Formats: sequence, structure tokens, C-alpha cells
Amino acid sequence: MSEIIIIGAGPYGLSLAAHLRGRGVGCRVFGRVMENWRSKMPHGMLLKSDGFASNIEDPGSALTLKEFSRTRGLAYADDGIPVPAENFIAYGTAFQQRFVPDLDRRMVIGLDRSSDGFAVKLEDGEIVSAPRVVIAIGVSDFAYMPPELSGFSRDRVTHASHHGQLDVFRGREVAVVGSGSSATDIAALLHENGASVRLLARRSEVRFHSPTEDRGLVSNTIEQLRNPKTGIGPGWRHVFYTKAPHLFWHLPEDKRFRIVRGTLGPAGGWFMRDRVIGRFPIATGVTPCHAELRDGRIALDLAGPSGKQTVTADHVIAATGYRIDVNAIRFLSENLRAQIKVVEQAPVLSRQSETSVPGLYVVGPAAAFSFGPVLRFVYGAKSTIPPLARHLARGAGRGAVAVPRTALAPGR
Ligand SMILES: Cc1cc2nc3c(=O)[nH]c(=O)nc-3n(C[C@H](O)[C@H](O)[C@H](O)COP(=O)(O)OP(=O)(O)OC[C@H]3O[C@@H](n4cnc5c(N)ncnc54)[C@H](O)[C@@H]3O)c2cc1C
Repeated sequence: MSEIIIIGAGPYGLSLAAHLRGRGVGCRVFGRVMENWRSKMPHGMLLKSDGFASNIEDPGSALTLKEFSRTRGLAYADDGIPVPAENFIAYGTAFQQRFVPDLDRRMVIGLDRSSDGFAVKLEDGEIVSAPRVVIAIGVSDFAYMPPELSGFSRDRVTHASHHGQLDVFRGREVAVVGSGSSATDIAALLHENGASVRLLARRSEVRFHSPTEDRGLVSNTIEQLRNPKTGIGPGWRHVFYTKAPHLFWHLPEDKRFRIVRGTLGPAGGWFMRDRVIGRFPIATGVTPCHAELRDGRIALDLAGPSGKQTVTADHVIAATGYRIDVNAIRFLSENLRAQIKVVEQAPVLSRQSETSVPGLYVVGPAAAFSFGPVLRFVYGAKSTIPPLARHLARGAGRGAVAVPRTALAPGR
């Protein structure tokens, strides 16, 4: 029994736990620390976010990425030195050990309402309860696979999130579909791991971000006024998105959706350009329209500016992103799922991140359509987690409730 249960031990879940504990509010956190970073992102990847924008927030900013890097002797700069994912995972783990040492590594497999709160079913069958639950699962359950690539076995077609290790593809021909950072990262790492790679991009060009340039004091100051630097890229719009997610929440719904979908489109990190361009074949402006198994390989029909063409490969990796969809959250009971109000499958959230089910909260990327594009990044925790912890602390003390086992309908 606990006051608040947090499902997920990634940057958002850990940060919320640290803030709640800083306020003396009891909470339990479930899940394996930084698991999505460990097993669902390619080994060797570099973070696209700058060092200063990759902090996991604690109440006193005592364990920033900079401080962690200093104590471990790791190269660090606020910007200009990309952060290796392995450093970020080690940082998240150190953060957990310091602020959430009692993390319960069991995964949640069921969540349902009970008479006085929520019943949470763990992977070993134990049921724990709390009056309030925060879902902090990142994009774990939301991998998007285009219909043309669906229905194949995993030894032929996979989503980018299915891969941590890429060396299993050494000596094989792999087609990577996509043009965002996930696609360019995976393609480059496959190539460097001895696979024969081809990148198939729907966009007319594969884009990369520009590095921050030091142009001298005067030019830097002028540029900063014109295009201020933020944790998600330069520009006054980004200042608004990063500083004021709770004002963003007040925008009309269609505008919020348009902004979240249209902001920071697919583009690789600046440091990846030289590892991609000229290293392996890239086809742009092509869209897979059909795929089939042919002689033990995947044949992919592509529609493009010069008509149809077919490419074959041993394996296809769809780096086709994520779509927030409450129905895809595996541990939600049917009952709860039906009660969560959604717009275009994304949860409708109050200004306090609460769903239409009282006591059930959502943080992180799944809250982006409410609070803006910054929620797609670790940086979004800085402006959204402290106010949420404040809100939860105000309602604390209602106590935990015991839940009869029969109250729990199993999740999918
Ligand atoms: C390839 C890739 C690269 C990215 N690069 C960057 C970047 O450079 N910078 C940046 O800011 N953002 C980046 N992101 C976005 C990044 O995922 C988020 O910013 C950040 O991880 C969100 O933190 P989170 O805590 O919400 O989710 P996550 O980090 O995904 O953590 C969620 C946690 O919940 C756990 N969980 C899931 N289901 C359950 C369950 N049933 N029971 C218990 N636990 C569960 C998972 O195991 C995981 O540990 C990237 C995303 C991808 C896919």
C-alpha cells in the first residue's frame, strides 16, 4: 500500500519520485530502470538533446548530467559534445540509486480501478494498491508500424524499438525505412557493424540539425536575440514550448495537435551527417506500398517520383516512429481504458496531468498533445514535474487502501 504509485523508471518517473520524496510524500516506483534506453534504442547511439537539456530533474538540481559526468570523469559540455546513450543510462541508474533506492523492478501487467483507488498487478501476480497512480511509460507501448510492413515475422521485419544490439545483422542486407534520427542512427550503426544497409526515406531529403556555432560575442548575442537557444532547439516558439507548457495547455485542441505534429520534424543529430551521407545508399521520396516474402527475402515495392521500384533485403527495420494510443497501453484493463477520455487516441489531461479517471495521471511523451512538443524530450520534465509533485503533495495523506483481489481485471 502506498500513497502514489508510479509506473515506469525512466527520466520522468524517477524525477517525479525524487520531487515527491523531496516533499515528504510516499510513493512506490515500479519497472526496470532506464529499460527503454537500455533495450529499445540502438547501442552506440548518441543523444540528440544537448548535455544541458538532458538532466533528470531532482528538487535541488544536485545530480545534473554535468555533475555526474564530472564525478565519473566523462567528457561533457552543455552543448557541442554529444552525450553517448550509455552515459545517459549510467546517469539515470545513478540517479535512481540516489533518489529512488527502493525501486521495485517488477513490471506492471494490470491496472484497474478499485473501490477506493487503483489496483496494480505486478508480473509475479502480487497486487498492490494506491489512491493515485502515475503512468510514466515513455513511448514503450506506442511503436508505429505502417500497415504495409505489418504481419511479418520478427526475423524479417521489425520496428526500430525492437533493437538494442545491432551486431546480429553483420553480413546481412538490411533496409531501414524512415528519415528521422532513429532511422539515420540505426542505418549508420548497422553500417558500422558490418551490415549492408540501404536507407529508404519518404521525405525528399534526409535532414540533420545544425551544430551551435560560436561566432564571437557580438554575433552570438545578436543570434541569441533573434533565435534564442532552448533545450529543444533555437527560436522564440521553442522558448514558449519549453517555458510555458501549462500555457500551451490552454491553446485550442486542434492547434495543440497541429503544433505537436509539426514541430521538430524528422532530422538526425548534427554529429551524424558524416556517418550517414555518402556511407551507404539512400533513396529519398519513396514510400513502401507493398511488401512480401520472395525466395526467403523481403521484397519491398516503393512508390516514388520516378514510378515504382522494388528493393529486396534480408531484413527490414521500420524506423517509423511512435503514435500515442491509450488502447495500446497493455496493462490497462478494458474497464479503465473505456473510462479514459481520448482525442485521436491520446489521453485528455487536466492542467495537473490527470486523465478523466480521477487519480490517474500521465506524464512524459504521452502527455505531449496536452503540454506541447517539449514533453517528447527529457527536458520537458523540468517544467512539468515540479508542479505535478506540488499538486500531488497537496492531495497526499488520503492514505492507501487495501484492494480485494477480485477487484482487479487482468490487463492484456
Ligand atoms: C530512439 C530514441 C532516441 C531518443 N533520443 C532522445 C534524446 O536524445 N533526448 C531526449 O530528450 N529524448 C530522446 N528520446 C525521447 C525519450 O524517449 C524521452 O525523452 C524520455 O525517455 C522520456 O522519459 P520517460 O521516463 O517518459 O520514458 P522512458 O525513458 O521511455 O521510460 C519509461 C520507463 O517505463 C517502463 N515501463 C514501461 N512499461 C512498464 C510497465 N508495464 N511496468 C513498469 N515499467 C514500465 C520502461 O521500462 C521504461 O523504463 C528518444 C526516443 C527514442 C525512441
